[in-house]
Amino acid sequence: MPTAASAEPSPEPDTLGEAIQVEDLHKSFGSLEVLKGVSLNARKGDVVAIIGGSGSGKSTMLRCINFLETPTSGKITIDGEQIEMNADGSPANRRQIERIRTRLAMVFQQFNLWTHRTLLENVIEVPVHVLKVSRAEAIAQARVLLDRVGLGDKADTFPAYLSGGQQQRAAIARALAVDPNVMLFDEPTSALDPELVGEVLTVIRDLAAEGRTMLLVTHEMKFAREVANHVVYLFEGRIEEQGPPAEVFGNPQSARLKQFLSSVA
Ligand code: ADP
Ligand code: MG
Repeated sequence: MPTAASAEPSPEPDTLGEAIQVEDLHKSFGSLEVLKGVSLNARKGDVVAIIGGSGSGKSTMLRCINFLETPTSGKITIDGEQIEMNADGSPANRRQIERIRTRLAMVFQQFNLWTHRTLLENVIEVPVHVLKVSRAEAIAQARVLLDRVGLGDKADTFPAYLSGGQQQRAAIARALAVDPNVMLFDEPTSALDPELVGEVLTVIRDLAAEGRTMLLVTHEMKFAREVANHVVYLFEGRIEEQGPPAEVFGNPQSARLKQFLSSVA
């Protein structure tokens, strides 16, 4: 999208421009074609919600963008840098992947914290061992991040002693520790008891308000409508419909989307 079309002056010079471009992404597992040509763009500061039924390819799409899966074909550009791929879709340049990984962070449904480490140790791991930040600096930053997600008093606690909501907030603090340009959330609240969902959504809402670029797979339709500026509906590995939340939720066009929305309401 041409950035010049934006009428509002940007508060920061670097908030415009493409953060993620996915072009004609295909992914098969054996003979099962899961992604059948998905194209998607997110500009810096965009919050893109990805919705769709179970098995429609939402996780596979995020995992391809984060190089956890090898695409079968297609083009992925992150922060203006196109991922170099071999003919079979595998990354051609490991260094490039490592570099881009430090600008991406993913938060999973199942928290994925290191269970034998305290929250503080979880948060400093990547800054210290991958980004080579000094331990003292990483600890100071981790305390700020844990405070931010409301866990300032739990820094020395092991994940097993925390609720699911607290663990997921810790996982978000850990994701933030690399100061990512792009955050990928894969159903971050779907493993939580209903009473714990709100505290995690509050943290994500704050990050969205801060202008973090996000792709958010969620089954929380109300939340998607509130925080996203673009919504993508996936059906069997293809984008069936997309647009601003008011249109996708308020005036869906496709019969499949209408049916999906009524099934999750
Ligand atoms: P969603 O996140 O929308 O529920 P997924 O992306 O997890 O969907 O899965 C899409 C389809 O791909 C499903 O049929 C799933 O079984 C299949 N799939 C996902 N990962 C693998 C894998 N590693 N090997 C084989 N099939 C897979
Ligand atoms: Mg999934």
